[in-house]
Amino acid sequence: LTTPPRKADAMTTPTRAELKSKPLVEVMAIDKSFGPSRVLKQCSLDVRTGETVVMIGPSGSGKSTFLRCLNLLEPVDGGNIFFEGRDITRERDKAHLVRREIGMVFQSFELFSHLSAAENIMLAPMNVLGLSRLDAHDLATELLGKVRIPDKADAFPDELSGGQQQRVAIARALAMKPKMMLYDEPTSALDPEMIREVLDVMADLSAEGMTSIVVTHEMGFARRAADRIVFMESGEIIEAATSEAFFGGSVGERARRFLDQIL
Ligand code: ADP
Ligand code: MG
Repeated sequence: LTTPPRKADAMTTPTRAELKSKPLVEVMAIDKSFGPSRVLKQCSLDVRTGETVVMIGPSGSGKSTFLRCLNLLEPVDGGNIFFEGRDITRERDKAHLVRREIGMVFQSFELFSHLSAAENIMLAPMNVLGLSRLDAHDLATELLGKVRIPDKADAFPDELSGGQQQRVAIARALAMKPKMMLYDEPTSALDPEMIREVLDVMADLSAEGMTSIVVTHEMGFARRAADRIVFMESGEIIEAATSEAFFGGSVGERARRFLDQIL
């Protein structure tokens, strides 16, 4: 297998190819119902370290539920989830430990409105990791630089654009040094001119080897940053194709119909 040329190669050791050989997450045939409605049906997906998976599918197909189950925000009814080879499926008591390793970014930012950008980022490292205020502030400064708003440390959420708020939310997730990032439609609430700045930050992180699952309909981002594309419909993972195969045109009938609607 050759590394796809469209994704920037990070100069790290071990090589990306080596990193990507090991599954970080293995989701095996998970089921989830809300009352009588089966929302996830035998969904399986492996995500290897360093991989970026883009997940697409119609509204209501179960994408958010899949991410929430993976992050143990929702218990599954059946199946198993392995993280670094460890079965975490029913470790409800250790859910907070798992969540510490998996950063999540939502459509609606969910920043604390009474805290500055820096304070939003500092909160978890201080409370959960025990960092001093000074160290947490240094970390926030570094991360605000990484998400390309180095001058916004003291700004409050309502003084920031939507795109800037979402980048603070990404920085806040990164502050816990997660092994994986989950993004649930991170640009859906943004004005068009702000979408790109958020996607650029996400693409940078992916290129640096951050393992990611991204629910998005931004197919430009998928083409640029995804190693694989997963298509969900009616609670089922219908396809999980490499980006090359997907954009090369080998897309099943149902995924094709969906793409025709969104493109
Ligand atoms: P998507 O993110 O693909 O739009 P969701 O995972 O949000 O899909 O939802 C899948 C289905 O599960 C939908 O029919 C939705 O109404 C239902 N659902 C999601 N969360 C809940 C919940 N907490 N209680 C009941 N039904 C839910
Ligand atoms: Mg959703």
